[in-house]
Amino acid sequence: MILKNARDGGTIMVAYDPDNIFAKVLRGEIPCHKVYEDNDTLAFLDIMPRTEGHALVITKEKAPDLYGISPEGLAKLMSVVQKLAPQIQKAVGADGVLIQQFNGAAAGQTVFHLHVHIVPIKDGVPVKPHAGDMANPDDLAATADKIRKVLSA
Ligand code: AMP
Repeated sequence: MILKNARDGGTIMVAYDPDNIFAKVLRGEIPCHKVYEDNDTLAFLDIMPRTEGHALVITKEKAPDLYGISPEGLAKLMSVVQKLAPQIQKAVGADGVLIQQFNGAAAGQTVFHLHVHIVPIKDGVPVKPHAGDMANPDDLAATADKIRKVLSA
């Protein structure tokens, strides 16, 4: 369902589906490899990681995409991205971090609950395609462990 965004009167906005997969993760109905949580955000590993340590930071607001979140919620979300990105980079020994955020299926968005990708990049190591192969759950658990250790240090 497509609605007009009341906030700016022009932008196309997608209605929020409370049964989207990240809403289920937030309600604890689907497990995740959690690395961080606060009152406004949750961060966990992407199950189809583009690189080791690929994490998603999601808002707890019912926002399908960038257009649907409050400015305050967006500031909180990006503040967590800013804090987590260097820690994740350190945890996996990466040389840089790619931050990605997709709006609309045409742009590659597959889950309509606002989230920001943190993709650590190592020099010379190829980045896999977006939403490609599923990772081994044991590998994800080990990576999440490494990240949580750095975050709690
Ligand atoms: P986007 O295309 O930006 O909407 O990205 C959605 C991302 O969520 C993709 O990179 C998927 O690999 C990832 N994903 C889908 N389902 C799950 C899940 N249950 N747990 C963690 N990541 C997921």
